[in-house]
Parts: sequence; C-alpha cells; structure tokens
Amino acid sequence: MIADTVVADQAPASTRNWAGTHLIADPARLARPRTLEELRTLVRSRSGPIRILGARLSCPDLLDARPVLAVDLTGLSGVTAWSPARVTAWAGTTLATLNAALGRRGQRVDASPPVIATQTIAGAIATGTHGQGLRQSTIGDAVTALWVMDGAGDIRKVTEDDPDIGGYSMHLGALGVVVKVELRTVPNQTYVCERTCVDADDLVSAFTMAAADSEFAKAWWFPADRVAHIWRLRPATAAEARLHLGGPGTATPLGARDSSINYVVDGLVRKLSTDTRTAAGGRPQFLTVERFRDFHDSVGDAHGILCKGIPVPQINCEIGIPLASMDAAHAELSRWYEEHAPRMHYPFILRATGPSRAWMSPAYDEPTLHYGTVVYLPERGPCAQDAMDALDDVQSILARHDGVPHLGKYFNPQVFGLVARPSVQRFTALRDRLSTRHWLPSDYLDSILIHSPAEGGHGGQPDQVRGRRGGGAH
Ligand SMILES: Cc1cc2nc3c(=O)[nH]c(=O)nc-3n(C[C@H](O)[C@H](O)[C@H](O)COP(=O)(O)OP(=O)(O)OC[C@H]3O[C@@H](n4cnc5c(N)ncnc54)[C@H](O)[C@@H]3O)c2cc1C
Repeated sequence: MIADTVVADQAPASTRNWAGTHLIADPARLARPRTLEELRTLVRSRSGPIRILGARLSCPDLLDARPVLAVDLTGLSGVTAWSPARVTAWAGTTLATLNAALGRRGQRVDASPPVIATQTIAGAIATGTHGQGLRQSTIGDAVTALWVMDGAGDIRKVTEDDPDIGGYSMHLGALGVVVKVELRTVPNQTYVCERTCVDADDLVSAFTMAAADSEFAKAWWFPADRVAHIWRLRPATAAEARLHLGGPGTATPLGARDSSINYVVDGLVRKLSTDTRTAAGGRPQFLTVERFRDFHDSVGDAHGILCKGIPVPQINCEIGIPLASMDAAHAELSRWYEEHAPRMHYPFILRATGPSRAWMSPAYDEPTLHYGTVVYLPERGPCAQDAMDALDDVQSILARHDGVPHLGKYFNPQVFGLVARPSVQRFTALRDRLSTRHWLPSDYLDSILIHSPAEGGHGGQPDQVRGRRGGGAH
C-alpha cells in the first residue's frame, strides 16, 4: 500500500496544450483528481477509456484526449519520501518542484536536466525526456521504482530489476497510470561551463571530444554561417566554486565576454522577425537567439547552467542517431544545407547521451547523438511551408543514419517505420500483455507502433517525404 496523501493545488484543468495552440480535451470530459483516492474512484467508476495528461508539453497528437475522458494528473504533486540516494514523488510533481526540493538537500536527479523544468515527472519519463552527457541517459533511466495503477484501480510497484523496466522507463502513457515515482539522486555539484566557437568543419571532432571529456556537453550548429557554439561542463575547482554567488538552480557569469558570433545573432533575429511576422524585440523567440550574444563562461549547478530554455510556441523536432554515425550524418546534412539553402529559424541543437534501457528511446542500448530543430510559429497564420519542408528533409536524412525520433515531439511517422524495430515490438507486446489498449487507447500511438512501415524504404529521399504531413505545433 502507498500513503494516500498528496500536496494538491486547486488550479482548474486546462483543455488546451501548454502553448494554448491546440484543443486537446473536451471541457465536459475533463477531470483533475487531487488525491490518490479520487483518482482510484475515477478509474474504477469510469464508463469508458481515459487519457492521462501531465503538463501538456508533448506533441498534441500524443495528448489529444477529446474522444475520451481526460485525466489531468498535475494535482498529484509533492515529494513523499527521502533516503540518501533516492527521492520519491507523486507523478504530477513538476521537475522544477522536484529540483528545488532536492537542491535544498544538496542533491539532484541522476540525469542531465532538460532545457525546461515545467514537465511533470511522469510525463518526462513517458516521453524519454533527456538532457545531454554520455555518462547518463533519459530521466526514465534514473527511475528505481514506479507505482502504476491498472484499469481496475489497483496499484503495482515496478522496480528497476523488473524484466519490463525497459518498457516502463519510457511508457508513453500506454502502460497504466503512473501515480508515484522513485528516482536515484546524486550530490548537486558545482560546474564551470566553458563556452567556445569553432568552424563548422571542426564541429564533429570538437563536439566528440567535448562529449567524451565532459560530464555534460552540447552544441549549436549555425550552418548558414558555418560556425558552431559549444558548451562543456566540468566540475568547478574550490576557488571557482567560491565565485558562484547564487544558490541551487542558478549560475554566475565568469570571465570575459565574447562577441565573435554577434553577427550570427543579428542575422537570425532578422530572419525570425520576417518568418514569424513579429517585430524584433523582447519577445521570447528572440530571447532564445539573443542568448548567444556576448557569450561568456559561467559557474553554477547543472540546473542553473543547463535548464535555461525559454518556452515559445514552436514545432519542436528531435532525432537521435547512433553517436558513431555522427561523421557521416553531419556530412550529409552539410551537403543538403549547401545545396538547398533551406529556411531554418534556429541552429541545430546537438546533444549526446549514453545508452538508455528504455525500449522506445532513440538512445536504446547505444550512445546517441540527438539532433534538435525548431520552427517558431508566427503570431498569426500558418507556418511557412518551406520551413516545414526543411524539417521533413532533416528527418529523412537522419532516418537514413538509423535515426529514431523523440516521441514526445513532432515527427513524421512514415519516415521512420518504427514498427520494424525489435525494441518497439517488445513494447507493443508488453502493452498487449497488460491489456491497456481498451482503457488507455491511442490511435496516434497505434499509427506509430502498429501501422507505420517506412514509405519508400527506410528514410526516403527528401523530395519523397516533403509536404506529407502538416505541422503539429507544440
Ligand atoms: C519548450 C519545450 C522544451 C522541451 N525540452 C525538452 C528537452 O530538453 N529534452 C527532452 O527530451 N524533451 C523536451 N521537451 C519535451 C518534453 O519534455 C516532453 O514533451 C514531456 O513529456 C513533457 O512532460 P509533460 O508533463 O508535459 O507530459 P505530457 O505532455 O502531458 O504527457 C506526455 C505523455 O505522458 C503521458 N502521461 C503523463 N502523465 C502520466 C501519468 N501520470 N501516467 C501515465 N501516463 C502519463 C501522457 O498520456 C502522454 O502520453 C520539451 C518540450 C517543450 C515544449
């Protein structure tokens, strides 16, 4: 049995995704339980299927609960237990709440922070949310136990030695209602983040070295300007740590400012302003680019340095390829960029992670390089079609390098043909064995897991896939 006490706020549930761009729930069929008992009663007395919602940051297709009862789990929030290297929290606790509680105890979750922390723990695990660093993988890989409610309202504890932990570590909301999670924690160290710029021709070697040598490393590749910006984090010396003036979750600037890529920032701001039909200024999408202006090193904890995303309505797409394929994939992406000069709003974001045990993760079983791209949405009207075409091209190219998409983000299922992957088949078999499809149905998941052989072979040519699917903004 687990204790039936939760820290619940009274906020009403929303019928829209986080950005407000998509209706994902019918207002007449939306519940927000505030205790475990309320949730159990709801599951036991339901007259049909349900869909669980966390912070609603994922691709709207994954979340769309309009045909069924939407159950918002953000009311089940709060830390419930501590031990020296473990923390237990309700599934609807946001990463920000968890991080703050851990930070006060000098701890953090044993996984790299993603770029934002408004996700719920269960939602982040569900979609394989990850940060960067070869010595760790997804947040789900830090799970030591989950408590999962079945369709009869009964709860089962799944531990890390369970043979199905690879399924639960990235559960896609398809294996039951996750009500509580126990995660491994580590001491919250202070790091120095060294920031540099390299010529695009040197990106592969510079990034590979940074990823191998540092606890956390990431890069932004600006193909139009043929430069890349690299962050690498190393533990701070005692003297450097004393220069950190803030507490947990903050970072302090260090050293001189570098203006060498300010011209790149100017160019991107102009392009973004035209494409999103928005005057340049303090709007969030411009701030995401302005961060590269006058860059400098910093000292702080992992969250303070890495969790710096600025949530802006966007189409967010990320494909993981085996890290060993980076050289070939990068060469092909570079050629494609030179030939097509595609419209892109943002640099490619490169993050490498270690192998994941999660069957559905792009990083399953091997070190993986995640290529991220973003198309920002205009204030009014549809997304520029050529920006969407560029997104489709990138997916096709990376699919040819054994790419697998981040399933919480936008992607074109027909490019990847996930059905053929043995690890996906294993997940589908577990879903069938648990018989969850009748009470947690998802046509979207079925279309990816059961009905999506790749069209035109594994990863078609760019022109073969263009325009096949509209933009599901999230
Ligand atoms: C601006 C932005 C930045 C992002 N940055 C990153 C990043 O750095 N790294 C990264 O990997 N991803 C990133 N993402 C993706 C994000 O982490 C995922 O979409 C994550 O799932 C969001 O968690 P959530 O609480 O919003 O879950 P939701 O989007 O609400 O739900 C996701 C899935 O989990 C299921 N679910 C939720 N709670 C439960 C539960 N208790 N039990 C069972 N199923 C449940 C839902 O049914 C759904 O299938 C980003 C997204 C945005 C919009």
